[in-house]
Order: sequence, then C-alpha cells, then structure tokens
Amino acid sequence: MNKFKDKLVVVTGGSRGIGKAIVELFSSQGAKVAFSYNKNRNEAEKLVESIGEERCFAFPCDVSNGNSVKDFFDEIKAKFEDINVLVNNAGITADNFFALMNTEQFETVIKTNLLGSFYASKAAIKQMISKRQGVIINIASVSGLTAAEGQTNYSASKGGLVAMTRSLAKEVGKYNVRVVGVAPGYIETDMTAKIPGQMRKLMLEAVSLKRMGQSAEVANLVSFLASDEASYISGTTIRVDGGME
Ligand code: NAP
Repeated sequence: MNKFKDKLVVVTGGSRGIGKAIVELFSSQGAKVAFSYNKNRNEAEKLVESIGEERCFAFPCDVSNGNSVKDFFDEIKAKFEDINVLVNNAGITADNFFALMNTEQFETVIKTNLLGSFYASKAAIKQMISKRQGVIINIASVSGLTAAEGQTNYSASKGGLVAMTRSLAKEVGKYNVRVVGVAPGYIETDMTAKIPGQMRKLMLEAVSLKRMGQSAEVANLVSFLASDEASYISGTTIRVDGGME
C-alpha cells in the first residue's frame, strides 16, 4: 500500500513500543520515516536495518532538551525536503503518590512529554505553515483526559498536550495544517510491563474489551489521522482504549 508515498514522516521515540509500530506502519505504507531514539541505539539500528536505510533514518535525540531536538530537525532538514507528518510520541512515566512525589519526578515527565512535544512541533511548524500542508499527531493518554491515581505528573503532561493540540490546531488550521491528539489506554509495551499482575487485572476490569491494546492498534489510528481520509479532523483527541469506563 502506498498511502504515504513520497511523504516524510517524523516520529519521536521510534525505537520501541508504540513509536516503533508507527515507524513500521508508515514505512509499509510508502513513507520515508525519520525517527529519534534516546538511549536504545541497538533497537533503533535494528529497526532501520529491517526497513532499509534508503527509507528509514534514526537519530539520537533527547526530546526534553531543546538543543538536542534542534540538532535532530537540522539533520532532517539537511537530508529531506518537507516534513509532511510529525508524530510526537516520545514519552515517559515516573509514577508516585503525590505526597511522595519529588520535584524531579514531576519536572522530568513534564519536560519529556509536554516540553518535548513543544520543541518538536516548533521545529516543524514554520515549514508546514509556509508550505500550507502538514499534520502533527500528539500521542497523549487517557490519563490526560480522566483521573489517574499515582500519575499527577503524567496526567498534567498529557492533559497539557491535549490542550496544546486544541489551541495549536486553532492557530494553524487556516494554513491547512492539522493537529490531532491520540489518547491510548493500556497498551502492551515496556512502559506498562512494570505494572504488577494484580493491578493489571484490576485495570483491565474497566476495559470493555478485557484485554490490553497492541502498539499496532494505536499505529492504525495514527496512520488514519495523518492521511487525507481524516482531512476534516483537527484539534480533537481521539481515544484508542478498548472502551474504558
Ligand atoms: P516505551 O515502550 O517506553 O517507549 C518509549 C519511547 O520513547 C522509546 O522509543 C524511547 O527511546 C523514547 N523516549 C523516552 N524518553 C525519551 C527522551 N527523553 N527523548 C527521546 N525519546 C525518548 O513507551 P510506549 O508505551 O511505546 O509509549 C509511547 C507513547 O505513548 C508515550 O508518549 C506514552 O506516554 C504514550 N502512551 C502509552 C501508553 C501505554 O499503555 N503504553 C498509554 C497511553 C499513552 P529509547 O528506546 O531510546 O529509550
């Protein structure tokens, strides 16, 4: 399928989990994909190798650091022409009860999940505006839409991203640039692997489909939202959560 033939898709945090599935899906749909990774160089290199160096590129980049994001986008702009799709996917958790949470746990999560998406969007937006084309997909979370115990830092970062999606969409819609949020529920990745078995069971009771989601199921939504089939969708955040109460 060549749905994204000759398009350039940029994905932050593409080395593992949901980001990796997004890289794989867009590549299989004909796009060139440039993705960043933070620490897992090996995983990133394996992914590039499996797709092919002529169509997939990986760069080290810490999204919580503005200079690092600038280097990533400078490299992209030197190698390619227009960025058609940006997926702000890189994200972390540092769960703790609020009474026990230290400033570093709060700050790191905000810096990675929210500020990181700000840096990357800012690096892409001027080109998108001037070319009158582009889609930014922000990977938020259901934790940014509903209460999540032990995740005040994560909820604040993802809720901020949902709000940023809405406001940025309003600003850039007139230039034919769309901004859309995706809010996954419980998806089976390294991020959720650390949830203890008993808690996982309890969490799944609230999911209509009674199972965790797969990264590919999130990637399918991202690909649809980035495509022309979703040409009238902007500013909103869409859940992919198996039906969570
Ligand atoms: P994951 O398996 O832990 O993968 C995280 C990815 O982000 C990795 O590629 C990692 O790179 C990258 N990353 C982490 N910190 C980074 C940084 N400072 N700079 C650049 N890249 C960084 O997580 P995931 O479950 O796929 O989550 C992907 C996104 O979906 C996140 O935004 C997460 O909040 C969101 N989400 C996930 C779930 C879920 O249930 N899994 C639910 C809702 C939302 P390295 O491999 O180099 O470390």
